[in-house]
Amino acid sequence: MDLKENLMSTKAVLDQMQLIVGRRGIVKDSDTAPYLQDERGHYFGKAALILKPASVEECSQIISMANKFGVGVIPQGGNTGYCGGATPFDSKKQIILNLSRMNNLREFDEVNSTMTVEAGAVLSTVHALAEKHDLIFPLSMGSKDTCQIGGVLSTNGGGISVLRYGSARNLVLGLEAVLPNGEVLSDLNGLRKDNTGYDLGGLFVGAEGTLGLITAAVLKLYPKPHNREVAIFGVTSTQSACDFLGRAERLSDGRIVSAEYISRESLNMVLANIPGTLDPFDKTLQHMLLVELATSEIDTDLRKILEQLFEEGVISKELITGVIAESGQQETAFWKLRESIPEAERREGGSVKHDISVRISQVPEFLDKAKKLLDNFIPHRLSVFGHIGDGNIHFNLLPPLGVELGVFKDEFAHELTEKVHDLSVQLGGSFSAEHGVGILKRDELLKYKSRVSINLMRTIKRAIDPNNIMNPGKVIE
Ligand SMILES: Cc1cc2nc3c(=O)[nH]c(=O)nc-3n(C[C@H](O)[C@H](O)[C@H](O)COP(=O)(O)OP(=O)(O)OC[C@H]3O[C@@H](n4cnc5c(N)ncnc54)[C@H](O)[C@@H]3O)c2cc1C
Repeated sequence: MDLKENLMSTKAVLDQMQLIVGRRGIVKDSDTAPYLQDERGHYFGKAALILKPASVEECSQIISMANKFGVGVIPQGGNTGYCGGATPFDSKKQIILNLSRMNNLREFDEVNSTMTVEAGAVLSTVHALAEKHDLIFPLSMGSKDTCQIGGVLSTNGGGISVLRYGSARNLVLGLEAVLPNGEVLSDLNGLRKDNTGYDLGGLFVGAEGTLGLITAAVLKLYPKPHNREVAIFGVTSTQSACDFLGRAERLSDGRIVSAEYISRESLNMVLANIPGTLDPFDKTLQHMLLVELATSEIDTDLRKILEQLFEEGVISKELITGVIAESGQQETAFWKLRESIPEAERREGGSVKHDISVRISQVPEFLDKAKKLLDNFIPHRLSVFGHIGDGNIHFNLLPPLGVELGVFKDEFAHELTEKVHDLSVQLGGSFSAEHGVGILKRDELLKYKSRVSINLMRTIKRAIDPNNIMNPGKVIE
């Protein structure tokens, strides 16, 4: 830093940053509130500035200045993350870089089946762009109308199709990122094969903005499966759900795209809180499995496969009953039951969320043990649902009726969460399957990851971001 730079006051640095983005790129006082708190209202912060850059050059200039003058940079996408990663602390020594103005489609390569988009592109817009070419970007989740590609990659988002297509990491062929020193790493060649050293772009996937700012990515696209069937089954137990799924995967030759578990308690919350939802069954079932099969081969009779699966499931006493959707409208209605669960929990007053994963074969053991642990501990209401097809269960706890979530949390959340996370890790699983670490699970990362992993993560962080300006205090320091 030369003498002139050294004398630059913080105010002058911030003024300079505002000049870089221009008036359209500055979020003014009265509009700042939604950017300063997280989706669930758990974290609130303050920021010296909230900027919306419009180009990678602007991002690079701002980050380079932040690095020189020790200003923390909080990357922000749709701000739908569940771990507080996109919320600044309250010191006012940090700025938010919100990517929503950088949402251009840079290139569509139909032959390569790829799309290059800027990080601020909203997930559902990406879906629509792909569909115009009869292709799909298969990653989808309940927040699709708000979350952005940069956020999805930074959290290595999962969602409802991981079973078939993998999580965000598996769906990106390269990216562009601004490093903490302002340099731009550009790997947008869209190559499906490139064995030339370390996977540098891959470092930024799942890093939650702690290593740099993702500004664009090459996304992998797949043929649109015109042939699809959705069914909802009543299963006798979670063990039966897993056994059934194992067989269904083989019998359908890998055509299952999604397999989502819904417990009675979660369904009841949806029926009570989300208008227009109906129980698909006339019996009260404890365990339900929503299954979607899809293929682009039009002559494959998916309905016949589902009917055969159903028959075998009933004979082997895994399934009690089932409904195959008769129309697109009914498919949407079935999916609404599953996708509305987070909103239904919110309307019930909110929940203590756990986003664990274990091997699919160990899901029943996890659930049995976790329920027993908690039954002996405190009164609570459970909401268990999630991506059972990839071993990711949302094991959420609500306070008993009449008790405020805040009181429940203050008294029990820490111990409850510790019990649930200890159990999943004891079973060889993860304490954070798809939501990331952010600020919420930073202590857990230190507790559950091996010393070797923590040291390696710190070495990488310090090598790439020696001044700790990128999302400081999140994930790892
Ligand atoms: C109703 C609902 C359903 C959800 N369902 C799922 C689900 O099924 N699966 C799932 O995985 N998640 C789910 N989520 C969580 C959330 O939507 C995802 O984590 C999503 O990927 C976050 O994207 P975002 O753009 O909102 O990121 P943000 O919340 O803005 O940011 C998340 C993290 O990424 C960093 N970041 C954001 N943009 C960038 C960038 N350009 N460069 C570098 N770092 C960046 C932030 O600093 C932060 O640490 C759900 C959330 C809601 C509200």
